Amino acid sequence: MLDKLPISLKTQKILDKALDEPISYEDANYLINVGGSDLFALVATADYLRKEIVGNNVTFINNCNINFTNVCTVKCGFCAFARDLGDYDAYILTDEEILKKASQAVENGAREFCLMGGVLPDANIEYYEDLLKLLKNEFPNILIHGFSPTMIYDASLKSEMDIDDSFNALKKAGLDTLPGTAAEILTDRSRNLICPSKVNVSKWIDIVKSAHNIGIPSSATMMYGHVENIQERVEHLEILRNIQLETKGFTEFIPMTFMYEYSPIYNAGVKNLGATGTEDLKLYAVSRLMFRDLIPNIQVSWVKMGFKFAQISLTAGANDLGGTLGGDELSQASGAPNGVDASIEQLSNIVKDLGRLPVERNSKYTEFYPINY
Ligand code: SF4
Repeated sequence: MLDKLPISLKTQKILDKALDEPISYEDANYLINVGGSDLFALVATADYLRKEIVGNNVTFINNCNINFTNVCTVKCGFCAFARDLGDYDAYILTDEEILKKASQAVENGAREFCLMGGVLPDANIEYYEDLLKLLKNEFPNILIHGFSPTMIYDASLKSEMDIDDSFNALKKAGLDTLPGTAAEILTDRSRNLICPSKVNVSKWIDIVKSAHNIGIPSSATMMYGHVENIQERVEHLEILRNIQLETKGFTEFIPMTFMYEYSPIYNAGVKNLGATGTEDLKLYAVSRLMFRDLIPNIQVSWVKMGFKFAQISLTAGANDLGGTLGGDELSQASGAPNGVDASIEQLSNIVKDLGRLPVERNSKYTEFYPINY
C-alpha cells in the first residue's frame, strides 16, 4: 500500500520494516521529524499496528482523582498547582473529606482511586501508608493508583528507609499501582531547566524499577512540548523501552502535552506554547512503532488535549482514553480545555464515532467490563 503514496523512499522503507519489527532509535529520530504525506503514512502505519496488536477496543477506567493536597516543596517550573503551606488557597484534605470524595466516586461506579498531590514538607512513608489504609479499610475492592517517584523518594529519605523497603511497606498498606509521573522528559538537561529539585533521570529509573521488581506495576508518562528538543523526546521513549525490556512493569504509556498558559516558566518568559497537533500525532505514532506490544497500551489524555483532539489521536496508534477522573486539580490549575470530569457516555461516544468498541478496564489492564450504551 505504502508504495502507492507520494512519500519519500526512506520513510517508506522504515515503515515497511516497522510492520514486522520495532523501529530503531535512529529510525524513531527520523520519523518524529517527518511532515506532509510522510506524516500521514506514519500515522496510518501506527494505526494498522495498533489494530494488529490490541484490536479495536478502546479502554478507559471509571476512576476518581483524589488530589489530597496542593502544598508542595518541589516547585516545578511547569506546575500551576503547587502552593506553599500558609498560602491563602493552600489545602490539605482531612480524612473525612477524602472519604467523602471516595464514597461519592464509589457510588458512581469508580474502580480506582488516583491518589495524587504535592510533596508535603513532613510527609514520610508512614504518612502515605496511613492514607492508603484510610481508603483500603473503607473500600477494600477499589484499586489505589498512588503517589509519584518524587514523593516516594522524598518520603523514604524522611523515614530513613531504602526505596525497596518503602515500596514493600506501601504495597502492604494497599498501594496497587504507581503513577509513572515525575518523568517529564528523561534527560537531565531538560530536568535541570524545568524541575531541578525533582529526582534526576537515573534516580527516576531506579525508583520505577524498584516498584516493578516488588510487584507494583506503574504507568510510564512523558510531559513534552516545553524546553526539550525533539531528539530528547525519542531519548525518553528509548529509556522507557529499555526499562520495560528488563522489568515488564509498565502497564501503559501516557504522553502528556505541556499546558503552558498558567505555568511559572511561561510567565517567567519561556514562551514555548507547547507541542503542535502534528507533534502530538507523531509522538503517539512513533511510540507505537517503538513499543509495539512491549508496552501495548498507549493512552491519550482528553483532559490535556480536549475531547476532539484526543479522539483524533486515537487514530495514531493509541488505544486508551484514560479515565473519567472525577476532577483533576493539577490539570484544572493548568487550564484544562474540556474540564476535568467526563462521563462514561461521553468517552464511549468518542470511541463509537471512530467505529471502535469502548470497554471499561481496571488499573492493571487485567479486567475488562462491557459498556451498556
Ligand atoms: S508537579 Fe508535582 S512535584 Fe512539581 S511542583 Fe507541582 S505538585 Fe509539586
